[in-house]
Amino acid sequence: MHHQLHRRQFVLGMLAAPLAIRGALAAVADARLSPWTPGCLDIHHIATGRGSATLVIMPDGTSMLIDAGATNNKLDVSAAPKPNAQRRPGEWIGRYAQRHLRATGRQQLDYVLLTHIHPDHLGDVDDASPRSAQGDYRLSGVTDVAELLPIGRLIDRGAPDYSYPAKPKGTYAENYFAFVKSRLQRGLVVEPARPGSSSQLAMRSISDSFGIRVVAANGEVWTGSGEQARSMFPPLASLVRADYPNENVCSIALKVSLGKFSYFTGGDLTSYTFDGELPWLDVLGAAARVAGPVTVATADHHGMFDGLSADVVRALRPQVWVIPSWHISHPDMLQMERMLSQRLYPGLREIYATSVMTENHLANKRLTSQMHSRDGHVVVRVQPDGAAYTIYVTDNGDENDTIKLESRHTL
Ligand SMILES: [Zn+2]
Repeated sequence: MHHQLHRRQFVLGMLAAPLAIRGALAAVADARLSPWTPGCLDIHHIATGRGSATLVIMPDGTSMLIDAGATNNKLDVSAAPKPNAQRRPGEWIGRYAQRHLRATGRQQLDYVLLTHIHPDHLGDVDDASPRSAQGDYRLSGVTDVAELLPIGRLIDRGAPDYSYPAKPKGTYAENYFAFVKSRLQRGLVVEPARPGSSSQLAMRSISDSFGIRVVAANGEVWTGSGEQARSMFPPLASLVRADYPNENVCSIALKVSLGKFSYFTGGDLTSYTFDGELPWLDVLGAAARVAGPVTVATADHHGMFDGLSADVVRALRPQVWVIPSWHISHPDMLQMERMLSQRLYPGLREIYATSVMTENHLANKRLTSQMHSRDGHVVVRVQPDGAAYTIYVTDNGDENDTIKLESRHTL
């Protein structure tokens, strides 16, 4: 709808805007996303079609990459690689970060935070994956990023031994552990997330209005008081092996705040409890209750069936949902119903997905047609005082950062 427009055109009043919220949707042609400027908070959901990757540029230019996914899934079930298959997804992610960090004057990632140890969050490998020149591991996802940019602190859920609740298995996990070992041998930092902490992911400069809270990791959820966290999981000795917490529910969740603006993201946390059989598995529910309400939230676990319970949606009640989608099953129909529901919470609602496959769109058209965007990088740019923010969707078919759509909001 926007390609034929030559100037910004605002469609006002398109949504039932509640008091104190003004939304303006603009279709834009031939405009490139302007560089980050000091004071702004930029959150880029990078759409490679192959997994999750989110670049955060904090108000003083401190940077963090959350995940660097690179699944090897075939094209029958996974979105096509974007911009194309001539580079690996991790290379595209690294180049994206290089390009956008230029404005900060610092070509390095201060933090890389991996929410959990799965290929669509840190990179899959096979015999065809090239070897790194820096250590005894192969290049994919986060290790591709590390070839392009220095990483200050690498933070994950299980360093240094990854033994709780059970050591992840698989070639991608082995490759990641080899990368961790190599970093430690080189004197580089690898550390576990500290649930409850508001200082672990600090900016270089002091700010009263900006902060990042580690809301959850390894089933430990911030209590809302000080930096305390408590574990959702029963003692492992009391569980049969089949009931051990899986990798997804161990994901790290974060809340990022700037003034009145806030953002919640929780990797592949889920709320599904096998219909009440294992209530402690609802880590996402506990994290959402202590973090919410927020302005913008991701639909965790890619909008799959076990992500957003009704309680999670009520607790987070964001104006904007971002679905980090890449697989044919993303998003699930009931998850869309909940995100759109004016019964669970009233007011402004916008939904953006990084990559919805045609097959999914055909199956869920009644709901997916209500999305603002189904393809492209989703960039949240928050103004310095946190009183306003804009969502930009940019074209992921090349590296020009061409704006396809923008939506402005005042808080
Ligand atoms: Zn995932």
